[in-house]
Amino acid sequence: MGFVLTPPPVSSLAVAETTDRFPIRRIFCVGRNYEAHAREMGRDPTREPPFFFTKPADAVVDNNSVIPYPPETKNYHYEMELVVVIGKDGFNIPEDKALEHVWGYAAGLDMTRRDLQLAAREQGRPWDWGKSFDKSAPIAPIVPASKIGHPGKGRIYLTVNGAVKQDADIADLIWSVPEIVSILSRSMRLKAGDVIMTGTPAGVGAVVVGDKLEGGVDGIGTISVTIGAPEA
Ligand code: MN
Repeated sequence: MGFVLTPPPVSSLAVAETTDRFPIRRIFCVGRNYEAHAREMGRDPTREPPFFFTKPADAVVDNNSVIPYPPETKNYHYEMELVVVIGKDGFNIPEDKALEHVWGYAAGLDMTRRDLQLAAREQGRPWDWGKSFDKSAPIAPIVPASKIGHPGKGRIYLTVNGAVKQDADIADLIWSVPEIVSILSRSMRLKAGDVIMTGTPAGVGAVVVGDKLEGGVDGIGTISVTIGAPEA
């Protein structure tokens, strides 16, 4: 027995300070997880239950890449985020055990076709076309929790062409990493290789071809990408 097509390569991300790669299974993203960002998106920042959307595993892009301006949008946004990667399977994980399932952390970007996302939102349609397109998840090398522990605070920031656009602290997450892991694991059996993008602080905005995005989370890492011409 064989496959009728060549199986696609395993999506993966770099691990900091090694040549090893972290294999990606699924990408979950948290919506509206910083109060000031919820407000800038026209929503009430009260602590309503978190909600999630997903990106395909092969949306990941390594650090220092040129990513093409995506099709079908005129309002292409950055969202700087703390990224959590899962190293151990679990279902119905209690909050006080949640960090045992976290293999490491990274700085990442939830790139967004904002016009498509908002049009879908207003019509009660899924967010996929706004969020889940090719190369929509640039993520810096993953730093293992075995090296840095589980940071609960640290500056999260993004610059575009050197100008600061987002500047907050991961301590401001409405839903903490243990809470997110625990809540998500009630709906899905989390698996090693799953990735969680934890939401963006205020200051999201549009980019154009040629812009250079540089951001990071203090103590975790930095990410840099350049917006390239649309793919032919
Ligand atoms: Mn986001």
